[in-house]
Amino acid sequence: MSDLKCKIAVIGAGPGGYVCAIRAAQLGLDVIVVDAGAAGGTCLNVGCIPSKALIHAADEFHKIAHVSAGQLGITAAAPGLDLAKTMAWKDGIVSRLTGGVEGLLKRAGARFVRGRARLLDGQCLEVATQTGPQVIRAEAIVLATGAAPVELPGLPFGGDILTSTGALALSEVPGRLAVIGAGYIGLELGTAFAKLGSEVTVIEAGERALAQYDAGLVRPVLKRLEALGVGLLTSTKATGYADGQVQTEAGDIAADKVLVTVGRRPLLQGLGLEALSPEMAGAYLKINEICQTSLPGLYAIGDITGEPMLAHRAMAQGEMVAEHLAGHKVAWDKCAIPAVCFTDPELVSCGAAPGEIEASAVAEFPFAANGRALTLERDDGLIQVVYREADHVILGLHGVGAGIAELSASFALAIEMGARLEDVAATIHAHPTQSEGLAEACMKALDRAVHI
Ligand code: FAD
Repeated sequence: MSDLKCKIAVIGAGPGGYVCAIRAAQLGLDVIVVDAGAAGGTCLNVGCIPSKALIHAADEFHKIAHVSAGQLGITAAAPGLDLAKTMAWKDGIVSRLTGGVEGLLKRAGARFVRGRARLLDGQCLEVATQTGPQVIRAEAIVLATGAAPVELPGLPFGGDILTSTGALALSEVPGRLAVIGAGYIGLELGTAFAKLGSEVTVIEAGERALAQYDAGLVRPVLKRLEALGVGLLTSTKATGYADGQVQTEAGDIAADKVLVTVGRRPLLQGLGLEALSPEMAGAYLKINEICQTSLPGLYAIGDITGEPMLAHRAMAQGEMVAEHLAGHKVAWDKCAIPAVCFTDPELVSCGAAPGEIEASAVAEFPFAANGRALTLERDDGLIQVVYREADHVILGLHGVGAGIAELSASFALAIEMGARLEDVAATIHAHPTQSEGLAEACMKALDRAVHI
């Protein structure tokens, strides 16, 4: 097979890699993107999208199953569930999106090569394709190979011990599900399976669930888990699984399936990096403000460059690298990267946490005082604003509440545009919406909240 040449070779067609390739091609650069699997990476195939599809289905099922017990005066017969059909619906969304990405790459003029890639040197890679090895020479190489689930020594993946990918492919709802790790992936999927009818126990080695978020924000999520009957054991290490029992320091817990969600590690092995010895930042590739590694012409984006391991950070990095390679003067200067947990209720965090920055203060507005939240029967939440006392510049916006993920855009926009409390307070927020809580939190900080 004759060698292929291009200006940019991107390894990995996840949100980092495919956005980089599309943007570079739009800018007139000759790009080849390589992936061992379908375009879309973890995010579209086994991450963000399929998990949110399952969460939606679980919400719908749970709503119907419990409507008769509610106060709305609605009654309904107990719903049935064919999980295999639910999964087929979810897979349909995945193939529509992954096919769409391949179409977008093609339309932009980027070439897609399927196969596992390995670097031969800083400007050359070899791809193991179905028809044999293919050498690709490029002026610049962008690594975007993502991350994989971390395995626990006593709980090797396989059989009834599942990764999130395995849990998203189940065709039957497990009777008893143990979730090891109370981070966002474990709680999102644990909540979904609890709503679908599993008896769920979450086992967390740390002192609390969603440890990186403010305890006040997490409280409504914990309350809801309790209401759903989800058991949560903190400060408890799971050590093994045998005969349908998860072994923990606190005793055995019966489980038909065990979902291990204790973190994700960057996927860097097998890439030929050992011979090139790029500088590392712990387990991740070290990058500068334009995502360049310590090796000339070698760039890295997405999960392999560290936290937060989120699709939208990978996409923003990919776009920036493409523009840099097209000769634009760019650098990473984002003020905030919103993070959303699609738990019940949803949790959004954007920018500085309370107490993180000196001379900052916090104000909160509870959804119990928001008309829209009451009409949705969901007043279990709040919005929190962190601001600089001296000039009222907004440093952080956080919230927990049903459907609050959609407010992450307003949170990020306010911080990115350097808004002050007065700017948000003076903006008319439509009534009745939960977004009014954002303006009210800012008004509370200014000591002039109207509805509390
Ligand atoms: P990836 O999306 O992992 O893509 C890497 C690609 O590289 C893969 O397609 C892989 O096949 C390919 N590859 C790897 N090595 C090679 C090689 N040697 N040769 C060729 N190809 C290779 N993030 C959010 O922002 N929001 C969410 O709601 C969210 N939910 C999630 C839910 C779950 C269950 C999981 C697991 C993750 C979730 N994430 C979420 C995280 C998100 O999926 C990742 O942050 C994101 O996909 C990272 O993008 P990436 O481009 O760095 O890598």
